[in-house]
Amino acid sequence: MRTFILTLLLAVASAPAFAVGPSAVAAPDRSLWPDAIDGEASFDRASRAEMLVFGHELAASESLDDTQLLERLKVKQVDRASVDAVRAKYWKRLATGYALASAHCASDEPFCPAAKDEAAFRAAATAFTAANDTRYNAWHANATVFHRVYLDELLRLAALFPRISSEVDTFSGNELSGNEPADRHFLLTFDDGPTVAGGNTDKTLAMLGANHLKATFFLLGGNLETRLKKTDAAALAKAYEGMCVASHGWEHKSHSAWPEWQDSVTRGSALVKDTFPASYVPLFRPPYGQRKADSGDFFAAKHLTVALWNIDSQDWNSKVDAEQVKQRVLALMLLWRHGVILFHDIHAKAQVAVPWVLGQTRSTGVTWMDCHDWPSAH
Ligand SMILES: [Zn+2]
Repeated sequence: MRTFILTLLLAVASAPAFAVGPSAVAAPDRSLWPDAIDGEASFDRASRAEMLVFGHELAASESLDDTQLLERLKVKQVDRASVDAVRAKYWKRLATGYALASAHCASDEPFCPAAKDEAAFRAAATAFTAANDTRYNAWHANATVFHRVYLDELLRLAALFPRISSEVDTFSGNELSGNEPADRHFLLTFDDGPTVAGGNTDKTLAMLGANHLKATFFLLGGNLETRLKKTDAAALAKAYEGMCVASHGWEHKSHSAWPEWQDSVTRGSALVKDTFPASYVPLFRPPYGQRKADSGDFFAAKHLTVALWNIDSQDWNSKVDAEQVKQRVLALMLLWRHGVILFHDIHAKAQVAVPWVLGQTRSTGVTWMDCHDWPSAH
């Protein structure tokens, strides 16, 4: 066991500084949920169930001391203040979400303990061990594992923040965290494109068009420059028509330690804006979510807003297949009830996951936002 942990630590230590992906990835099995999710009430019940299990794991994690956290998260240092701040934020979000999800449930319904405020939700989640209906046992066992591994993903990012920045927290109220959308509202975002002509970017755009979705694409300047050698700008602008197009920098490098990061932002945004004047939105998504703590003045001067996400599909991860991506996205939609979902149009997984998630959430009151409405409706 000792050797195993040491090997993991060495693996983490020798990885590139910006590769802060988790060593295990959480993917649940939604097929174990015994109820149909076919309306607002059944969405809310499934949502409350996810929140209670995640909240239970969150409460349990608070009893770990720093040494136990180091070992569990496989990191060398834990920024305790950051971990505490992130946990506090999650309790607040969960309590708000639970109030919305439990507004119409009856106390004898599964997963409906009364929780009128944050303290009451915390108490209900801490005490939550199982539904009083055995139909939910298989789901509960699976969800417990999922939420523990998922929580560790988040706590690991929190433990490293702000030394290694990421989407787990913001440096100021000027950055978009992905939590801006209203209850049951979700926005799709796609990073790292464009691909070569006829590749996954084109296929992703076709899938979105067929489903009448307006997503935000964060393009890499270098990839766009390559694509423009094969596809003329007008044809490419036509392909992205209706979508929002923004910059992901010129190169896919961490923008927190790279000396040329400002040049990457400026060049990337200029090429995206010049190529897509009608679809351009002044957002910047830092690769890996990594940007400097004091970069706010630079982005403000460039009239750019840092745009993060709150739901990571993990479609970029070679250890996660399309089936796991779709299960995970649905579970996280139920957990957080709103947000900005991170996908990558350079991969094919979203082409399978998005139509499935759409089908699963039809008639549940879920709204797929028009990208122009993030952060707000003008
Ligand atoms: Zn990226």
